[in-house]
Amino acid sequence: MDLKTRESNKRKKLAGSKGNSADNPGKCARCGGAMIFERFQVSMEIFYAWRCLNCGDIMDSVVQKNRELVMSQKKQAV
Ligand SMILES: [Zn+2]
Repeated sequence: MDLKTRESNKRKKLAGSKGNSADNPGKCARCGGAMIFERFQVSMEIFYAWRCLNCGDIMDSVVQKNRELVMSQKKQAV
């Protein structure tokens, strides 16, 4: 289920601090600052997303995807 997330994380590690993987958005859409790939934890949920070092903006597409995943799983579980 989190194949893409793991793949992204692996690529990030391989790329080192340069972070020039295919998933790297490069610059913040808001302020053009540098983005870092970070692990986030909200209660029991753990997900990875790009965060801007400058303004703290989080890449919505990644976060949204993970949220949808978690929500759909919860629906199935209940
Ligand atoms: Zn920013």
